[in-house]
Amino acid sequence: MFRYETHLHTFPVSKCAKVGVEESLIAYKKLGHDGVFITNHFIDGNINVDASLSFADRLKFYLSDYEKGLEFGKEIGLKVFFGFETSYKGTDFLVYGLDPDWLFSNPQIEDMKKTEELQYFMDSGALVIQAHPYREANYIDHIRLFPRHVHGVEVVNACMDDFVNSMARHYAESYSLIEFAGTDNHRGGSKHRFAGMESETPIENELDFVSRVKEGKMKVFTYLRPDSVSLK
Ligand SMILES: [Zn+2]
Ligand SMILES: [Zn+2]
Repeated sequence: MFRYETHLHTFPVSKCAKVGVEESLIAYKKLGHDGVFITNHFIDGNINVDASLSFADRLKFYLSDYEKGLEFGKEIGLKVFFGFETSYKGTDFLVYGLDPDWLFSNPQIEDMKKTEELQYFMDSGALVIQAHPYREANYIDHIRLFPRHVHGVEVVNACMDDFVNSMARHYAESYSLIEFAGTDNHRGGSKHRFAGMESETPIENELDFVSRVKEGKMKVFTYLRPDSVSLK
């Protein structure tokens, strides 16, 4: 099986991430993954950027970890793909299949209401997944569900407990949404539990991934890293 991390944060772009992109990618290489999607918090989320900068300048900073990762991935033999995690008051969505050029050409997304923005992403060919829909936290006023504006939901988020994940699975089943998984890794190789999507043949690029997920050709996986494996 070919395994892909679908939900990875790196420092400094994601303010909440603890390790940089190179250290994170080394861990996935050692774990035997075929590739990773770098999905830092987008410019509407928990990002280390000066909000007074222009859309294009914030986007340039946003892309800096991904670009570093793309180069480093080639050096170590790990595929690196692009994705982003957009936010609405603490409710998060993972978006795959829209590339950096698409983002530069669409600054109007910043002024859209969330459901309009999600619909626009989907109409533009993206795969949209609601991350950990049942997460509760002090910075989330209430749980928000968007069953008509996403393709799928994370039914396994490796940072969430069984209750949060099983509620998400129930939600996905009830609305016939795609079942998706990711680690939501903010700590690179010191993370203990991993999750993601796997396939029998390697994926070629982001759009290949998007169509395979939509066609039900990729499966959820999750595992615990043995204590004996050091990923540092
Ligand atoms: Zn975060
Ligand atoms: Zn995340």
